[in-house]
Amino acid sequence: MKIYINPGHGGSDSGAAAFGRTEKADNLRYASAVADKLKAAGHTVELERNADYLIPVKDIAKNANLWGADLFIAFHRNAGGGEGVECLIVSTASETSRNMAQAIQNALLGVGFRDRGVKVQDRNTYVLSHTTMPATTIECGFIDNENDNALFDAKFNEIVQGITDAILSIAGGSAPSTPAPQPTAPAQDVPTLTRNLRNGSRGEDVRQAQARLNRHKANAGKEDGVFGSNTEAAVRRFQRARKNEGRDIGKVDGVIGSKTWAILWE
Ligand SMILES: [Zn+2]
Repeated sequence: MKIYINPGHGGSDSGAAAFGRTEKADNLRYASAVADKLKAAGHTVELERNADYLIPVKDIAKNANLWGADLFIAFHRNAGGGEGVECLIVSTASETSRNMAQAIQNALLGVGFRDRGVKVQDRNTYVLSHTTMPATTIECGFIDNENDNALFDAKFNEIVQGITDAILSIAGGSAPSTPAPQPTAPAQDVPTLTRNLRNGSRGEDVRQAQARLNRHKANAGKEDGVFGSNTEAAVRRFQRARKNEGRDIGKVDGVIGSKTWAILWE
């Protein structure tokens, strides 16, 4: 099956924050661990972001639909003074969405979280109402609740395994206890950049940059060699994420100069 994994928030959108932690970081951490296990179980997995990017919810839903995902799971943490876990579905959700949400909910109760139930919610659930495949959003405990955070950290491996098994109960297959070894990427010959690439640029170098941006999950869209607004937004997203990691990329300006180009080829 093709399984779409959406770690909520990212980039300038931290999501909820409390006790010095941010939802975007927690979401990426548990979503990517589940994605790895689903891959190891033999499924085709698309991890929407693998770094600190902000991808607009409209693009997330569109990407999942265009890719032809069979299942869609959004990973979030809750906030606002409560305690426990809930899985969200929209009122138009399919039977499979309900079953998947309930299976994940049960797995998290098994880890020790309080049960807030599977909730039907049509507000603030854009990705659920705009994707065309079975979908749910996990709210894995409250980031502003110390008990939930303690569970999230201490039981992290069980949480990841439980969510994975719940998804596999719908998708089929089983996760091996040790992840399969990942093939190492072949060394890249970095092509020479002969000019700065910016909005309006066209050519093979632009197409290569778009392919690298997509490989880095910066969401450049079509690899057509035409540097338009989608490509520019992707460059900014890529630059901002690297900058947040402490890399020297110069300015976050949406222009590909030698520094951005070099890091794109990593
Ligand atoms: Zn969230």
